[in-house]
Amino acid sequence: MNQYKLDPDKAIKLKDVDPDDTGDIKQKADIRDKLEKDLARIRALQEALYAEHKRSLLIVLQAMDTGGKDGTIEHVCSGLNPQGVVVTPFKVPSAEEMAHDYLWRVHKVTPGKGMIGVFNRSHYEDVLVVRVHDLAPKEVWSKRYEQINHFERLLTDNGTVILKFFLHISKAEQKERLLDRLNTPDKRWKFALGDLKERALWDQYQEAYEDALNKCTTAAAPWYVVPANKKWYRNYVVARIVRQTLEEMDPQYPQPAEDLSHVVIED
Ligand code: ADP
Repeated sequence: MNQYKLDPDKAIKLKDVDPDDTGDIKQKADIRDKLEKDLARIRALQEALYAEHKRSLLIVLQAMDTGGKDGTIEHVCSGLNPQGVVVTPFKVPSAEEMAHDYLWRVHKVTPGKGMIGVFNRSHYEDVLVVRVHDLAPKEVWSKRYEQINHFERLLTDNGTVILKFFLHISKAEQKERLLDRLNTPDKRWKFALGDLKERALWDQYQEAYEDALNKCTTAAAPWYVVPANKKWYRNYVVARIVRQTLEEMDPQYPQPAEDLSHVVIED
């Protein structure tokens, strides 16, 4: 899965990454068992991470509209113990949030020890939507890449492992998904006319994403560009990387503080 991990020394162009890529896997049926095993293993590792209570995992999800953030969360988090995972969506900042620096609302919800945190959108919105819509002047947002790298470094130095996923879909696939939302009664609630205005800014968003990905991929907090036109492949890739990362973290159940061998539980 390292093929999807960005290299801090090599800038990428999104148009060189094929959103239809499914690696060497031909069809969904070929990964069903593997995905199930990965999810079961993630669950087991989550238990140990929670019990260990020393480190945390932060998963950042970013994508163009309809890119599949919600679906990824639904699938990859489906087997997790809800007590050990917190999903945080980032919406248009509130008045209180706007009265603070842009990382204020983010730092408050980073995962505590033993927890897995999932960000549905994130602090990257402050160099994406803010840049594309001119919500702040360039002098302001252009400094944020470095600030974000420092912020993420602070987190990783203090025991949080960070995984950042950009779910990469094509403009044609977005059209299909928007049409599907329009035409399916129980998906229509997800359709907003504003999505069409955002779609018209596709190229500007791709450029803003390219900069965020290239400037903020670090050894400690890498970005993964996940081909996401095929939902099953996207879920498989994200689950694999989460599993691999938790395996590398190798969380350990704590030893009891005292010798328990003499303990007898009376009837
Ligand atoms: P989603 O599309 O993630 O399912 P919404 O439809 O509620 O959820 O969209 C959230 C909106 O909030 C997006 O349009 C996103 O660009 C916007 N947003 C998030 N963070 C910021 C920010 N820092 N500044 C301005 N807008 C933001």
